[in-house]
Amino acid sequence: MSASFEMINGIPNYNLYIAGQWTRSLRNETTESTNPATGELFARVQQAGVAETEKAITAAHKSYKAWFETPVSAREAVFLRAADVLAAKAKDITEVLVAESGSVFGKAGFEVGYCFDLLRTAAAEMRRSPGETMPLTAPGQFGFTIRQPLGVIAGIAPFNAPFLLAMKKVVLALAAGNGFVLKPSELTPVTGLKIAEVFDEAGLPHGLLSVIPGPAAEIGAAIFADPRVRMITFTGSTHTGRMLAVEAAKTLKRFTLEMGGKSPLIVLGDADVDYAVKAAAFGIFFHQGQVCMANSRILVEEPIFDAFCERFAAVAQSLKVGDPREPDTVIGPLIRGTQCAVIDGHVEDAVSKGAKLMCGATHKDQYYWPTVLSGVTSDMRIFHEESFGPVTSIIKVRDHEEALEIANATDYGLSSGVITNNMQKALDLAFGLESGMVHLNDCTVSDEPHVPFGGVKNSGYGREGGRFSMEEMTELKWITVQRGQRAFPI
Ligand code: NAD
Repeated sequence: MSASFEMINGIPNYNLYIAGQWTRSLRNETTESTNPATGELFARVQQAGVAETEKAITAAHKSYKAWFETPVSAREAVFLRAADVLAAKAKDITEVLVAESGSVFGKAGFEVGYCFDLLRTAAAEMRRSPGETMPLTAPGQFGFTIRQPLGVIAGIAPFNAPFLLAMKKVVLALAAGNGFVLKPSELTPVTGLKIAEVFDEAGLPHGLLSVIPGPAAEIGAAIFADPRVRMITFTGSTHTGRMLAVEAAKTLKRFTLEMGGKSPLIVLGDADVDYAVKAAAFGIFFHQGQVCMANSRILVEEPIFDAFCERFAAVAQSLKVGDPREPDTVIGPLIRGTQCAVIDGHVEDAVSKGAKLMCGATHKDQYYWPTVLSGVTSDMRIFHEESFGPVTSIIKVRDHEEALEIANATDYGLSSGVITNNMQKALDLAFGLESGMVHLNDCTVSDEPHVPFGGVKNSGYGREGGRFSMEEMTELKWITVQRGQRAFPI
């Protein structure tokens, strides 16, 4: 089969992409993907199982060495062509992101633009020397290091930024010389298959990349059981990540975890309140709060607390909730209707323990209205648990020292933000915050293709982006060279 999908009764039926072929699954089973904004059937997608996973791993294993030995100029050309293909398909992929994941156009366009930069970043990164030389003790001897691909890497991706996050794994693993098997989220399989379309059209040698949507537990078990898969790169919830980390430990596979967060944004008393409100609103309401690094806790110093709360609640209430296809919509649907009950549970628990509901806490179908709580304390579930929706807590703090203490009183540690003009306090906080990323005079939401993205504590381990991913995705080898003969003691 040469096409990614066939139209059947007006609905696209997507195939799997295995070893460079678009193919139905052996069981010929499909799932239905619905548009979270409307509930309408959007696509049917073939479901891979154990046999397809095995085939994908075999193809990646057979092809990665030849790929790594291909001249860097030829490998680089594939990435540059992929960037061009992506640019040509930008409209199609943006529309899929809107229809499949409920993204507004701005968020979908951001994902596509990011991946364009990512492909070009990876092309450049492949030309950098990844090794070093070192003097050694034996006379006439020196050492050097090289980086070699691991072989086959598998990626498990989430639904919320399904193109960007899966692309980051695919692109940097291939750039490091590996073969790759991608299991996209069951909520966004078509977006995952679009990655295969891009690389197929760009002429990536067949076998190096397979994209296999399907039942998570079945494909996961097949990936973990296969000794040829040397690394798994996971992005998703802490609940799933913790479970999979145990499986990775059992089979001694390298494993990187990008997981959830409860990221604090600290606003000190000298901040420009209007700027802080804008930053905080973007940091929680972007993609209706379904962002791992969302500032779901906002810690505001006493002197500006009341003014901040009043203006922030006014902004929250002004945001249009509705169909993401409408250009002025800011808050689209949540991916799962069941998430509304999770958020309701957090809000009800907080209010019952004394928090003040400033706005929101209403929902209809899969839409949840922007919700703001103040007076949240650490005995409330919402202080600790990820809501993954458009809801945030504003917490009053005495000074930057109390802000640091409260900010760190969580098991998560992904991102943090600090808004102040006081450089000393900003740096004290940047050094003291227990998170993998800190943004000064900005909200907590930020990512670029070449930066070391990642968290500490229950937000995960390992870093993703540019050379940092490529280091995680390669084996470091130490080689020594003896110039002349070495004197041995025996
Ligand atoms: P999830 O944990 O439900 O699913 C993530 C992926 O794991 C999906 O592809 C799913 O199919 C797969 N999976 C589930 N069980 C599996 C199994 N037994 N074997 C193999 N794969 C399995 O997460 P989600 O709801 O898709 O995403 C939201 C979560 O992801 C949030 O917690 C969010 O904070 C986190 N996230 C983190 C980052 C980051 O970079 N730190 C980025 C985006 C999202």
